[in-house]
Amino acid sequence: MERVISVSLGEVVLKGKNRKHFVDKIIGQIRKAIADIGFNKIYKEMGKIYIEADYKNFDIIIERVSHVFGIIYISPCVKVEKEFSEIEKAIKLLVEEKLEKEPSIKTFKALTKRSDKNFPLKSTEINNKIGGYVLKNFPLKVDVHNPGLYIYCDIKTSCYIYLERVRAYGGMPVGTNGRGLLLLSGGIDSPVAGFLMAKRGVQVDAIHFHSYPFTSDRAEEKVLNLAKIISTYTGNMTVYSVNLLPIQKEINKNCSEREMTIISRKFMVRIADKLSEKFGYDSMITGESLGQVASQTIDGLNVTNRVTDRLIFRPLIGMDKVDIIEWSKKIGTYETSILPFEDCCTVFLPKHPSLRPQVEDIEKSEEVLDIEYLVNEAVENMKIVKIKQEV
Ligand code: ATP
Ligand code: MG
Repeated sequence: MERVISVSLGEVVLKGKNRKHFVDKIIGQIRKAIADIGFNKIYKEMGKIYIEADYKNFDIIIERVSHVFGIIYISPCVKVEKEFSEIEKAIKLLVEEKLEKEPSIKTFKALTKRSDKNFPLKSTEINNKIGGYVLKNFPLKVDVHNPGLYIYCDIKTSCYIYLERVRAYGGMPVGTNGRGLLLLSGGIDSPVAGFLMAKRGVQVDAIHFHSYPFTSDRAEEKVLNLAKIISTYTGNMTVYSVNLLPIQKEINKNCSEREMTIISRKFMVRIADKLSEKFGYDSMITGESLGQVASQTIDGLNVTNRVTDRLIFRPLIGMDKVDIIEWSKKIGTYETSILPFEDCCTVFLPKHPSLRPQVEDIEKSEEVLDIEYLVNEAVENMKIVKIKQEV
């Protein structure tokens, strides 16, 4: 009898021929995520991944592994030989532990999955046998509709018994869907946007715009801290830190105050596009949500969208603020995002931003600016920070 952790895979099981590539990628990312804790072995067995490690580290390992995308459930299991007497021993151990912690549990249901079709009993027969054993030995009744406790039994090369299924995020392993450059502000939205695209397999790096010395070092540090939190999901990350102040000053001097925000936003996209070209990102990612602020109306989005042919992912576009906040709390960025440091966009914030900016009007306003020079200079002066995956 041995304790192991099982890892159930999500959509990657549908990947047909590529499945092995996806599963191996997940295994590699699990290894990295728990390297400093230590483990004995990670192996595959009939569709799941198993981790052998010191039982006292199970909680922290499960927490770390839940940050790897491509996984839907994680379970602490007891692994035994495929003998019913052994299965009973495992159930006894787990149910005793569980009832000690949660004595109010009154009902159960057995759920067997028989992957080894040579095992002499069918799934329903095994469920019945488990049911009989539990009814005889514990003060529990069967409830097939709403049980207080599930007893899972996977019959494979060995047999795995478990009671918990810790929900992970699902998605695709990071690095299986290209590279994306996240426009990362210090706000609530963009970290969530980066997380959601990483969850679909995009390898995410970030670009941040500041207006130093109008914005402080601490505002910069806050953004790097957000990047560190995102890196617990995405792995190592590069943050390009760009000073937008020279550009903002030029816009301020030459363009209408009402167009300040939308024109600076266009410059952000231009610079991000330039870096994408230079460093090979196939997409950009923003935290925009339709209608949230003036620059995120359809007109506003249309104006910024014209800057590039590159794909721009806006995973929050149809989400309400309350839902975005819920995500940010769940992934751990919220507390950092709400720290009250100034953002580059607030430095020259217009009192009345234009609500219906038109592509041609904005282009006309920009005619006085030496766009190429400003973009190149911003890129030349940027700072590159390498974030090592936080654990
Ligand atoms: P967030 O909470 O992500 O800051 P927001 O609600 O404040 O978003 P805006 O300020 O309009 O909205 O920004 C829209 C998007 O533009 C952001 O989600 C982000 O992707 C990008 N962005 C805005 N400011 C910056 C910045 N200083 N550096 C990098 N990207 C930025
Ligand atoms: Mg913002």
